[in-house]
Amino acid sequence: MTTEHHHFINGAEVRGESGRFGDVFNPTTGDVQAKVALASKSETEKAIASAEAAYPSWSAVNPQRRARVMFRFKELIEQNMDELAAMLSREHGKVIADSVGDVQRGLEVIEFACGIPHLLKGEYTEGAGPGIDLYSMRQSLGVVAGITPFNFPAMIPMWMFGVAIACGNTFVLKPSEKDPSVPRRLAELMQEAGAPEGVLNVVNGDKEAVDTILTDPRVQAVSFVGSSTIAEYIYQTCAAHGKRVQAMGGAKNHAIIMPDADLDRVVDDLIGAGYGSAGERCMAISVAVPVTQAVGDELVRRLKPRVEELRVGPSDQSGVDFGPMVTREHRDKVKSFVDLGVEEGADLVVDGREFSLQGYEDGFYMGGCLFDHVKDDMKIYKEEIFGPVLSIVRADDFESAVALPSNHQYGNGVSIFTRDGDAARDFASRVNVGMVGVNIPIPVPLAYHTFGGWKRSAFGDVNQHGPEGVRFYTKIKTVTSRWPTGVRSGADFVIPTMK
Ligand code: NAD
Repeated sequence: MTTEHHHFINGAEVRGESGRFGDVFNPTTGDVQAKVALASKSETEKAIASAEAAYPSWSAVNPQRRARVMFRFKELIEQNMDELAAMLSREHGKVIADSVGDVQRGLEVIEFACGIPHLLKGEYTEGAGPGIDLYSMRQSLGVVAGITPFNFPAMIPMWMFGVAIACGNTFVLKPSEKDPSVPRRLAELMQEAGAPEGVLNVVNGDKEAVDTILTDPRVQAVSFVGSSTIAEYIYQTCAAHGKRVQAMGGAKNHAIIMPDADLDRVVDDLIGAGYGSAGERCMAISVAVPVTQAVGDELVRRLKPRVEELRVGPSDQSGVDFGPMVTREHRDKVKSFVDLGVEEGADLVVDGREFSLQGYEDGFYMGGCLFDHVKDDMKIYKEEIFGPVLSIVRADDFESAVALPSNHQYGNGVSIFTRDGDAARDFASRVNVGMVGVNIPIPVPLAYHTFGGWKRSAFGDVNQHGPEGVRFYTKIKTVTSRWPTGVRSGADFVIPTMK
């Protein structure tokens, strides 16, 4: 019998009744390993109602007790790390070590959320006027929702619900329908950790569930991570319905390689950041920009054999660099981008399109591809490919190298490799991109900082997790109070605090 994934509402499994299901593949073999129920509007509304019912009591729990739930959740994740990583790898196709990393990065946000009593402290001014004190407090919003992509099924839900729930909100999570098991398991663990029923609800679904969340007046704020077209739609629809929204989108992350960079180190970093997780990371390096033709020639000479030697295989086997892609459809889309690059006149130095693995011929595999002489007017440069494809765009000097990521439609991450501190500092200051690495290939900020790109990589002004996450999931209230009230000085015709 085929496994079926249903919803987790008000602390229990709720079977999907819409009659609509999506396929959950095993990317290693290409088989359909499960079906996932796709929620109707009314089923999604049940999840929202459950979160609404849980809100008054959860928001009244004091912050230190909410922190204790987070602490127990952190311990449960650690105890269940192997199970979570294996579950994640089986549906996503990323190798086990990378799957552990996915869970670990989410866990770090939970560790951050354990400090919520400190993070929620307000400000106080004594004696702002005669007998007048002024203070501010951060209050939770109510029911909030998260809509997440396939590529980090553990980390990204935890970016969102970890902070939101610690702040006192209740949550509706609509995870990717491609890999629903881990988000569901996390909700069970939250309950085991002491989160009351209804505090974290998971509703599986597609556009119908998403649209219900975006338009329901009970939902106060929406966090989204996914592709830019959908992110923009989420942003606009939420804004039209008066909701707070943060919507992270796609990316095209450049690595600038200056002539003084340590090229051996750069090649290692490009291989890891360009091809790790089959390039299905929003912070993957997809464009390398060697500065000067000589650096370009040498870089290609060294990269070519390394890309050819990449070990592609089943995600649960050791010694594999990257596993299959998430679906056949996505793998074929990536391949068609490679076809397009050839048509556009880029030089395909390594062609991984025909890669096939004996015994796993139907798995969603693809070998690493390397393009040289990519130009900035080509589609393979302008658009996100999201696969194991690295493009080399040669620049003649530092200024034209800075201009490339700065002028690109996406502005998620960027890195510079150099031994020159002046150049690195100037680059970090001027480049028009949200997250910058200096001799670091994947500049993902840690949980206590915040994550967010610029331009079409993020719609909305407030980043994910860290102090920005706390700001996103709370609203500030400022109280001006006068004690004692007994001292009278007649009618005030100026604002009392001006006295
Ligand atoms: P996606 O946009 O296809 O899906 C994301 C979510 O939106 C899913 O939950 C999906 O069910 C929902 N969705 C899809 N189509 C929809 C529609 N028409 N209306 C309403 N909802 C819809 O993204 P994906 O393929 O799951 O993830 C990969 C993308 O996510 C890449 O573009 C990647 O760069 C991006 N991403 C960005 C970040 C970031 O922080 N900037 C992080 C991870 C991934």
